[in-house]
Amino acid sequence: MSEEKPGFGLSADVKSKLLNRLSAQMANRPAAGVAAVEAPAPVSSRPALGHPSVLEEIAMLRRAGDALGLESPFFRVNEGLPTPWSVIDGRRVLNFCAYNYLGLNGDPRVTAAANAAAERYGTSVSGSRIVSGERQVHRDLEAALAKVYQADDAIVLVNGHATNVTVISHLVGPGDAVICDALSHNSIIQGAQLAGAKRRSFLHNDLADLDRVLGEFGDTVKRRLVIVEGCYGMDGDAPDLAAMIPIIRRHRAHLMVDEAHGLGVLGERGLGVFEHCGVDPREVDVWMGTLSKTLATCGGFIAGSVEMVEYLRASAPGFLFSVGMPAPTAAASLEALRIMLAEPERMERLRTNGQVFVQAARAAGLDVGETLGRAIIPVIIGSSLRTTLVADRLWKRGIAAQPILYPGVPERSARLRFFVTSEHAPEDLRWAVSEVANALAEVGQTTPQALADLKTKLRK
Ligand code: PMP
Repeated sequence: MSEEKPGFGLSADVKSKLLNRLSAQMANRPAAGVAAVEAPAPVSSRPALGHPSVLEEIAMLRRAGDALGLESPFFRVNEGLPTPWSVIDGRRVLNFCAYNYLGLNGDPRVTAAANAAAERYGTSVSGSRIVSGERQVHRDLEAALAKVYQADDAIVLVNGHATNVTVISHLVGPGDAVICDALSHNSIIQGAQLAGAKRRSFLHNDLADLDRVLGEFGDTVKRRLVIVEGCYGMDGDAPDLAAMIPIIRRHRAHLMVDEAHGLGVLGERGLGVFEHCGVDPREVDVWMGTLSKTLATCGGFIAGSVEMVEYLRASAPGFLFSVGMPAPTAAASLEALRIMLAEPERMERLRTNGQVFVQAARAAGLDVGETLGRAIIPVIIGSSLRTTLVADRLWKRGIAAQPILYPGVPERSARLRFFVTSEHAPEDLRWAVSEVANALAEVGQTTPQALADLKTKLRK
């Protein structure tokens, strides 16, 4: 039998050309005997996928980190629960990087609820809710969330970021306007972009500017959707909802509030920014929140009128064309919400801890900005280099605090962000603040030299 038996109908000649091409591709050189037009371009001659400015920025940060001999503060591995003392990258540290605000991730009752739902329903609902993925626990969670906001109904989606993108882009469109606070989260901006609506921002928490921006539209748009956050994730401050609502009404606008960091954090009972500001939650048209912080799992939700929720349930692409929330996730968040409402002492501890940190920080001369002193407390340093150097020193002393650099925050306002939870011990908080002050003072003396070294090394 011939050796040249043509497998898949290929002649010996074609086979040898293919082999030749494959080995040429591996060696990144042109293949002999193969027409140039057939050969794929060598990988190196094609522009890299991705946005050039972002690729450049990542490369620059890596070079700067290498030049300074710093370990990357990103993608560190937490080896257990995100508790105040955690083992991260093999090191036992005081952890300020987790938004487990009320300590409910890891609470045995929440874990048991997830386990029971996994036993009964499995780890996935194996279908979009509309076809085969509906479970009673989804409805129970939605009813419990709607109750918090005194809303007609609520809908849960599998991801918080995607909730903003799909919902905002589905509520408004071309011919409408989205007006957001200048410090809005990326998911809000992406939702507004996808909507194709006119986009404007107003100065952070500046109601006179909001009024001005709303007034500028005149009759040029059909609907105006104002979007704010209940508690800002990089600053820990909140909008004045009570003063904002009359402005919204006067301009016949709609109001959406993203409570990702507000729920469980603001207000006596942790109901969020409406409780904090003493306003009726029914004054807000669209309540959005995430399950990933206080509610200890992941996912997003929307609460509001029955018409809006029905509309989203029937047609929001990120809901309709996506799998339903896994039952263990829904069950765990439902239990976390139940505990949050039943144990207001957790909020009390969170408030006390926040005040301990803020008072100690202010006494040490640290700049904590406009934080309300609850769960999110920035220590604003300004320069990205100093912030990175301080974070590195703290890490080496057993304190994990995330450095947040431009473009995560406006230029020259780089900071360390501390997520303070109800579970931190006040003495640990005081110790952490004193270490921040020490590290900042030490780095203040070494930064000019570090900057000069960095410039020299990066020029090489
Ligand atoms: N909105 C805000 C204000 C956020 O800070 C975040 C992220 N933390 C999201 C939405 C997205 O939520 P998730 O991380 O749960 O997807």
